[in-house]
Amino acid sequence: MSKQAPTLSGHELAEIARNFGTPVYVYHAERIAWQFKRLQSAFSKTRARFFYACKSLTNINILRYVHQLGAGLDCVSINEVMLGMRAGFTPENIIFTPNCVDLDEYVAAKELGVHINIDNISILEQFGNRFGNSYPVCIRLNPHIMAGGNFKISTGHVDSKFGISIHQIRHIERVVKSTGIVVRGIHMHTGSEIKDVGVFLEGLEVMLQMAGHFPDLTFIDLGSGFKVPYKADDPETDIELLGKKLSEVFSQYTREKGRDLEVWFEPGKFLVSQCGYFVVKANVIKQTPATVFVGVNSGFNHLIRPMFYESYHHIVNISNPEGPERIYTVVGNVCETDTFAWDRKLNEVREGDFLSFYNAGAYGFEMSSNFNSRLKPAEVMVMDGEPRLIRRRDEFSDLLRGQVEVL
Ligand SMILES: *Cc1c(COP(=O)(O)O)cnc(C)c1O
Repeated sequence: MSKQAPTLSGHELAEIARNFGTPVYVYHAERIAWQFKRLQSAFSKTRARFFYACKSLTNINILRYVHQLGAGLDCVSINEVMLGMRAGFTPENIIFTPNCVDLDEYVAAKELGVHINIDNISILEQFGNRFGNSYPVCIRLNPHIMAGGNFKISTGHVDSKFGISIHQIRHIERVVKSTGIVVRGIHMHTGSEIKDVGVFLEGLEVMLQMAGHFPDLTFIDLGSGFKVPYKADDPETDIELLGKKLSEVFSQYTREKGRDLEVWFEPGKFLVSQCGYFVVKANVIKQTPATVFVGVNSGFNHLIRPMFYESYHHIVNISNPEGPERIYTVVGNVCETDTFAWDRKLNEVREGDFLSFYNAGAYGFEMSSNFNSRLKPAEVMVMDGEPRLIRRRDEFSDLLRGQVEVL
């Protein structure tokens, strides 16, 4: 494994922008492989399995690539399960972790034979009544740990809709006993962008206590939330340290309890955030009394994270990397306030220049829309140095697809 993370240069990205047009999402396959190998090596001393949380980026080629790497898949909808199977994942390598879906969707997933993760008591009871001990499940617990980059992406706190509260353990046990349902795994996912290793260890502590209530357990799923750096000096979850600590905790647990549990993870962002670049074109430079705006040919219809989560995405003017630095506010062309970045230092931007946003792989294209009747961007994957189109840019007819013209 190389020491240096694989990256695409501004030069390569500008070339892609010229050839494929803008706005365009560009994914660097080797970076995904590199991140995956880091995970494997960090957790090599535990019996770890990794299920790519594909809601972060579901292009079928990305799914196939992740499958070839040897990862499993974490799906939050039945459609993601079906995409995963189309990409070649076997049911044994897919875990279905939805929330607030109806029993029918769980049953559909069961019929496909994937692992099922149940996140409320009502469904646990219905599923158990229907299938008894014939289909083992995993239970999503809420360990009530407050963690995550911001409230919208925190899922483990007391007000969160996710999981079954650990304080309801007696009720869970009653349902398990009365239905005969077999619990193979317990799961937690406390949020996204958790930089503190201690949070995962605290969660694991809670999960190991819970494990005592489930004699048929074979795995503990610690979800995800690994933080990746967005700014140059941003902290990153120290997965190497976490791997070391986990192996200590698990070996001690095995020694004391005589149980050898697997640990599962569901990384999304960690695998695909940094592989992605979003390249746009500066349409206009607009000087106002207060600031200099760069208006680009995109908006929150294509990349919503800065507006929705107040996330920071590093931006580089790849057309003028040597130009003098100036301060700009980078905005989109949507008829709403859609600011990608305030007061950002960029190499002088001229109309027509390409700007590249970093960390655009996870929750970028995936959260895009046709708001303002704009077309969704193209997606390009670079593998072995070769860029290939993996989704054509929307065309006008895509705006009408599915509409029924009755008038
Ligand atoms: C979204 C999600 C993940 C992935 O979170 P990241 O922060 O992208 O790693 C994992 N597990 C579940 C259940 C999720 O909903």
